[in-house]
Amino acid sequence: MSNKVRVRFAPSPTGGLHLGGVRTILYNYLFAHHHGGEFVLRIEDTDQNRYVEGAEQYIVDCLKWCGLIPDESPEKGGPYAPYRQSERKHLYYEYAQKLVDAGHAYYAFDTTNELENMRNQLRTDTNPNPQYDSNTRQQMRNSLSLPAEEVVDLLEKKTPYVIRIKMPQNQTVSFTDMIRGEIHFDTNLVDDKVLLKADGMPTYHLAVVVDDYLMKITHAFRGEEWLPSAPVHLLLWEYLGWKDNMPQWAHLPLILKPDGNGKLSKRDGDRLGFPVFAMDWKDPKTNDTTTGFKERGFLPEAFVNMLALLGWNDGTGQEIFSLDELVQKFSIDRVHKGGAKFDYEKAKWFNHQYIQHTADDKLLPLVKPYFEKEQIPIDDSYLQKVIGLIKERCTLLPDFVQQGRFFFVTPQHIDLPSIQAKWDEKKRQFFESWLAGLDGIGSWEHTAIEQHFNGVLDQHGLKKGDVLLPLRVMLVGGKFGPGVFIIAEMIGKAETALRITNVLSQL
Ligand code: GLU
Repeated sequence: MSNKVRVRFAPSPTGGLHLGGVRTILYNYLFAHHHGGEFVLRIEDTDQNRYVEGAEQYIVDCLKWCGLIPDESPEKGGPYAPYRQSERKHLYYEYAQKLVDAGHAYYAFDTTNELENMRNQLRTDTNPNPQYDSNTRQQMRNSLSLPAEEVVDLLEKKTPYVIRIKMPQNQTVSFTDMIRGEIHFDTNLVDDKVLLKADGMPTYHLAVVVDDYLMKITHAFRGEEWLPSAPVHLLLWEYLGWKDNMPQWAHLPLILKPDGNGKLSKRDGDRLGFPVFAMDWKDPKTNDTTTGFKERGFLPEAFVNMLALLGWNDGTGQEIFSLDELVQKFSIDRVHKGGAKFDYEKAKWFNHQYIQHTADDKLLPLVKPYFEKEQIPIDDSYLQKVIGLIKERCTLLPDFVQQGRFFFVTPQHIDLPSIQAKWDEKKRQFFESWLAGLDGIGSWEHTAIEQHFNGVLDQHGLKKGDVLLPLRVMLVGGKFGPGVFIIAEMIGKAETALRITNVLSQL
């Protein structure tokens, strides 16, 4: 590649960031880093009606959490600043005007009512949704249908207008998508999209082309849902005389519902009980919060690794990749054309893998807040040891509290029925005499505790299998946790004795 690779993620700040959006960010990032290029974050906020307060900051926070930091952005600046389209408003008019002057676009003065009437009048069974296009534009109020003097007059009177692209008739426009290959569009099926709105703001269609050009974008990755807009963009690149600079496009496959039936939506997540957004998103209008992968207890590295594999693989069957390794191995040729089914169980599998391979001291600051939230008093070095003992049993970060609470507080609920099922006097006598002899254990560490335990067992003619489960339930509250003698060592002699005595009194 001769030109320096420059890619962009260009979100509209309209709400929470869907995992499909994060995957687009990731593929941008991987491609840019693989080619030693630059990754730009550009905020496409020209649609004031869809603008949502806080959504831009949220996107920035998600990028940070995922560790996918752009080289240029509104926050960071860069040689092509500003990176927020609303701050570039003054730039677009000139290009819209150029298109009008060259006959590729026109002024349209139609009011909302007139547009509505057109749709009602032209609606037929075969055309239930009439568009503003080469068939209808002559019947509307625009600079193609009205006499030239009237147009001048309307403009002089400052009549509000929009600028629309004039889609040519009977043409085929084509481009080669990096993932899908050659794609053709019939211009008769595309409407005369608005390029510049009455408030002087460009629409997405004009702004995306102008900014990709001005920002020297070489490759543009976006979701498959943008494919229908491609013919408009292709023609704009051509009409503005920039065809040779057009980025190579890759339209990424959709992320599908777990059953493969259609695009995964936030509602599917609510319905099936898994997150779809990267981080918690609180809708400022409704105050409703949608849970994110972060708050559900995913590690960002696991989330990113899982997303990389939703639509791409390296061909070897390898599933665990560090970000550096992904950068090295990623190639667009191996991105699938077909949609990728989202599988929450698989997402959890990735997180479990990452928890196992993350050092205990790295997990400590991630796990600690969950204990603090439940007001469990903790000591860092003790918690770090607990993390090492239970991480094998933890899939999501909150699991650490569930699996580890008993190391810090005496269990409130004891699963007595599972002890009572096989309880008898012999076992009670064993526990009583073991308790009485605890002071005889030299150093309170698990091998010495176990040795002493075995000795008392022999004296009572019992087998380990008879009493290990009751001991576990007494110390933990239920039938889970790591080695029971390690638990005893960790909670200490006094607490061990206290828990056993308490439970014995209830049996
Ligand atoms: N602003 C568009 C969006 O919200 C970006 C599409 C593109 O990347 O061209 O997804």
